[in-house]
Amino acid sequence: MVRPRKLRKVGFIPQIQYFVPFGIDPAERQENILRIEELEALRLKDLEGLEQESCAEQMEISRQTFQRILSEAREKVADSLIHGKALRIEGGNYTRNICPVQCLDCGKEWRESYENFEKIINGEFNCPTCNSNRIICARQEKKKFCWRHCRRHGGES
Ligand SMILES: [Zn+2]
Repeated sequence: MVRPRKLRKVGFIPQIQYFVPFGIDPAERQENILRIEELEALRLKDLEGLEQESCAEQMEISRQTFQRILSEAREKVADSLIHGKALRIEGGNYTRNICPVQCLDCGKEWRESYENFEKIINGEFNCPTCNSNRIICARQEKKKFCWRHCRRHGGES
């Protein structure tokens, strides 16, 4: 199984994920799909008013990538507003947090997404190099996973 590696860090997962134009016959309705990281780009740049560089830093991506995601997001929203299309917010390559982890057997270090931590802690996740399931958080020294720390950081900033 190939997992997406280019994760974009987001600080917001929307509760409301579907917006529909009023007065359009559902059978005729078209929609745009806005990915979670595209919504995050709009939130940071257009709602919070951050500089592009800060936005890119927060999402842990390059400025070019941020610019591309933002452009695509704006185009979809504009298209929905102008042409009366619904907006569905779902999917994408996003994560609530990214943490450094290390394999205890081969020593490989990599950056893994918060959403995989539970599997890692339960030994259900394998090192991409040696296939070992003995993986720890690389931020601390007690040979285990700093789940609390990671969870705390998964919900903010
Ligand atoms: Zn390994």
